[in-house]
Amino acid sequence: MAHTIVTNVCEGVADCVDACPVACIHPGKGANRKGTGFYWIDFDTCIDCGICLQVCPVEGAILPEEKPELQQRG
Ligand code: SF4
Ligand code: SF4
Repeated sequence: MAHTIVTNVCEGVADCVDACPVACIHPGKGANRKGTGFYWIDFDTCIDCGICLQVCPVEGAILPEEKPELQQRG
């Protein structure tokens, strides 16, 4: 099962992007409800390693499960 970036909690810090070993975290289009940029995880490529969750400074922005209803691409 993949990890999920919660679109409206993410603040677009992008620490997760450089940390992901399979480069499956991509920038979303536009802004989220907080008015910041955001990223999304490609569920098909994610290997569920959990590194993104460890490096993300924003509480609740990444969930260790696949929740497509919480993640938008913009
Ligand atoms: S999920 Fe966390 S580390 Fe990744 S872009 Fe969003 S706030 Fe930044
Ligand atoms: S769990 Fe691992 S592979 Fe999946 S998005 Fe996070 S860092 Fe990338």
